[in-house]
Amino acid sequence: MTNKASINELAVPGVRDLEAYQPGKPISDLEREYGVSNIIKLASNENPIGASPVALRAMRESLPEIALYPDGGGFELKGALAARHDMDPACITLGNGSNDVLVLLAESFLQPGCEAVYSQYCFAVYPIAVHASGATGIEVPALSRDHDQFMGHDLAAMRARVGPETRMVFIANPNNPTGTWIEASPLEDFIASLPDHVVVVVDEAYHEYSEQLGVPDVSRWLSRFPRLVVTRTFSKAYGLAGIRVGYSLSSPEIAKLLNKIRQPFNVNSLALSGATAALKDQEFIAEAVRVNSLGVAQLQADLAALGIATLPTAGNFILADMGRPAIPVYEGLLRQGVIVRPVGNYGLKQHLRISVGTQLQNSKLAAALGRIYRDSGA
Ligand SMILES: *Cc1c(COP(=O)(O)O)cnc(C)c1O
Repeated sequence: MTNKASINELAVPGVRDLEAYQPGKPISDLEREYGVSNIIKLASNENPIGASPVALRAMRESLPEIALYPDGGGFELKGALAARHDMDPACITLGNGSNDVLVLLAESFLQPGCEAVYSQYCFAVYPIAVHASGATGIEVPALSRDHDQFMGHDLAAMRARVGPETRMVFIANPNNPTGTWIEASPLEDFIASLPDHVVVVVDEAYHEYSEQLGVPDVSRWLSRFPRLVVTRTFSKAYGLAGIRVGYSLSSPEIAKLLNKIRQPFNVNSLALSGATAALKDQEFIAEAVRVNSLGVAQLQADLAALGIATLPTAGNFILADMGRPAIPVYEGLLRQGVIVRPVGNYGLKQHLRISVGTQLQNSKLAAALGRIYRDSGA
């Protein structure tokens, strides 16, 4: 037990060569490293107006019961979600964030020798979940510049890569970090075209924002497509990223499989009560969506004024082509107390992903960017 160099060789092949997920820089890190204060974090697509006061109150009220294990079946939250989606609670799987459900899906359907198909620039968690399960990830090149969803999922190319070993296809609608989206009819045709040995996961983490653009709620199609799984989260529009709750909607048969391997208490009691209460406050969601729409327009105009190109977005974030290496811009923003997200891990060395903030936060970001672009004579 003296040779430490070989520990990597003991790891399973899928894990050995993985790159860890790179989260947005926490505010406390920036305070420590740069000594700046009044920091704005526009790096993890969190809700800039926070969470519903109704949810916060429910969590405070459930604090005294924290010594007890949570309801492992999530009865109340599943009931509230079932009512909201007009579905049977047996179709719902709760997760410690939707990330948890994505991993459960990969664990349930993938193994070495299997393939999973996803798009270039897709959400970074898919390849991690796929590789950790030992399966082969098939990354399909994204749409080219001549397409109106430039950098988005190329469904025809993805379909062409579905083969006899394919067990899973991941689609984020809209996608993070690109903000691109897929309309109902091409998505429906794509799902209908898949062979029976393929489970298709449609990740609707930003559904509350994208709904107004006509991006479909594919849970409506579950009765027609038994191998379809839809994932949703409380981390984005609901403003509850810190308590970690997400869920999937699927056939009861798929939910049953996921239930067998999940941790028995994978959603904690504060999360259960907070999420259940949050569902009742749809006025809060409407306000979050309203603030976001204004913020998207504001940021797109401010970035355009600086000559920075952006992609259209159906989410609460914007992918911006900085027109130069992104890391010095990112660091210039950090020095001014603004955290955004570099996306070099997606192969995008000149882009930054900027989460939409409040009007004031967006203005501060634009001013900070203005200083960088003016100082460098651009
Ligand atoms: C943020 C995000 C999620 C949500 O992750 P949680 O684990 O629910 O916090 C899922 N999918 C995409 C595409 C996301 O951007």
